[in-house]
Amino acid sequence: KMCIQKTGEEFAVIHHELGHNYYQRAYNTQPLLYRGSANDGFHEAIGDTIALSITPKYLKEIGLVDTVPDASNDIGMLLKLALDKIAFVPFGLMVDQWRWKVFSGEVKPEDYNKAWWELREKYQGVMAPVERPVDAFDPGAKYHVPGNTPYTRYFLAHILQFQFHKTLCEIAGNTDPIHRCSIYGSAEAGKALNAMLEMGKSKTWQEALASLTGKGEMDASAILDYFAPLKTWLDEQNQDRTCGWSQNI
Ligand SMILES: [Zn+2]
Repeated sequence: KMCIQKTGEEFAVIHHELGHNYYQRAYNTQPLLYRGSANDGFHEAIGDTIALSITPKYLKEIGLVDTVPDASNDIGMLLKLALDKIAFVPFGLMVDQWRWKVFSGEVKPEDYNKAWWELREKYQGVMAPVERPVDAFDPGAKYHVPGNTPYTRYFLAHILQFQFHKTLCEIAGNTDPIHRCSIYGSAEAGKALNAMLEMGKSKTWQEALASLTGKGEMDASAILDYFAPLKTWLDEQNQDRTCGWSQNI
């Protein structure tokens, strides 16, 4: 799945990839047709869920750092993670928005690139850094477009992973702020997660989700809980500033 290097970033990526493998192993006794994830967002979310437990405390426990930074460092860590996890969400949504418009014929070939940048601006608030030639095909730079891999799964996974993490932390009896919680070593959390993974796709995704979280609906509020200290900090920094990028959103 990956040509791995020993970097902090790839330490998270290997958790992501192994999430796929542990899911596959969990549902491998299901009948053939049920050997898959509850929906494709689930498959992308499992390893990321586990990676949210890579806290400084956990790194100390496994001997990868000597000291646990005090809580004053949390804002920096949360900001770095938010630039990854939250900044991704609008991109995760717009890739298939573009693709579905292409497949439906709503966007014609001569407008493929223009429509791409319209969505980039609408959802992400970013523009091309230079004027793009009319025959440019910037969507092709994203592997999943020429590779024909669905992309909404990553949008879903970025919501689900925080929902899973929050629930698993509750099961593990965590009393720390959610961003400081690691489920490492909690047999109860592992058992609850595995019970959902073992279902494969023998149940609907709503049933699978409810089996773990008690609720059969996706709920992005766990993201807000996780980043709550950062939100407070950002609100202070952005006082008296006008944020946003477009009149028509
Ligand atoms: Zn993946």
